[in-house]
Amino acid sequence: MNTEHTSCLIIGSGPAGYTAAIYAARANLQPILYEGIEPGGQLTTTTRIENFPGFPAGIEGNELMERMKQQAEHFGTQVRFGTITAVESKQRPFQVTVDGNHLLTADTLIIATGATAKYLGLESESQFKGMGVSACATCDGFFYRNQVVAVVGGGDTACEEATYLASICKTVHLIVRKPHLRASKAMQKRVLSTPNLEVHFESVTQEIVGDASGVTGVRIRNEQGLEETLAITGFFVAIGHRPNTAAFADFLELNEEGYIRTSPGSTRTNIPGIFAAGDVQDPHVRQAITAAGSGCAAALECERYLLNLH
Ligand code: NDP
Repeated sequence: MNTEHTSCLIIGSGPAGYTAAIYAARANLQPILYEGIEPGGQLTTTTRIENFPGFPAGIEGNELMERMKQQAEHFGTQVRFGTITAVESKQRPFQVTVDGNHLLTADTLIIATGATAKYLGLESESQFKGMGVSACATCDGFFYRNQVVAVVGGGDTACEEATYLASICKTVHLIVRKPHLRASKAMQKRVLSTPNLEVHFESVTQEIVGDASGVTGVRIRNEQGLEETLAITGFFVAIGHRPNTAAFADFLELNEEGYIRTSPGSTRTNIPGIFAAGDVQDPHVRQAITAAGSGCAAALECERYLLNLH
């Protein structure tokens, strides 16, 4: 049986993956890109993007990703459904398994698998997942129009989701465990000046309460140990993300939080021929534009690597 071969396999379909694909395709590397479990990545779960250069009036996340995909395909990238489930990194070319059964070989890999939302880990949270508990306000907020909801978290994501929800819901409770928000000053200002958004500082979520119809409330405890149950129908978790590195953890060096370690100023990993771009290797900035930039760098480094290899 002939195993399919590519010089450049790109894993992931966010801004990093598609930008890598655009550059690799234009360099005639004929890349194959696997989209993974969330085609288009995290930007497809956000609202309007106002800080991506070139779109002064903003652009919807889905539209931006669709345009990047079209641009990658226009230059010859093969974009496919599927998730990489295993990589044999000791042999050359690398042997890659897709969805547990399809095998292909690749001279280089660009890993751009991004990161996934974290949950609090409460039993009641898993019990009501999909019945009022969500990690994506922009995907699910619509279902809670004119209702009372809560968001947990104090970073930019939580603040962005809370202000978005405040524009469609009756009231939004923002549950923050510290006495302050971690979000940028501009975002803090927006949150604190939104009239139907109430911030509960130094408050910890104890339990999501509900019945057969779904979530009916959230029990929180403040610094003084006082408990209160807020009547809500939707509970949105926005406490950060976990990098999607499970398929690569056996052979790539990761940092303490599981992000792929790359050489300073480069997208090179500890394995020659494997590059990492975007949120999967960036626990700090995590912006669409920086992800796109590192995708570009990965494709250029990949091209240089292949020139030396052949
Ligand atoms: P962050 O890691 O910045 O924030 C996570 C928040 O969740 C913190 O407030 C943290 O609290 C809180 N948290 C974590 N675990 C728990 C828990 N178990 N219970 C309660 N609260 C918890 O994640 P974000 O997703 O908000 O942002 C990630 C990065 O992306 C940041 O760099 C951010 O600036 C950026 N970003 C930028 C945007 C933009 O510019 N438009 C939009 C969205 C994100 P604590 O503060 O106590 O640690």
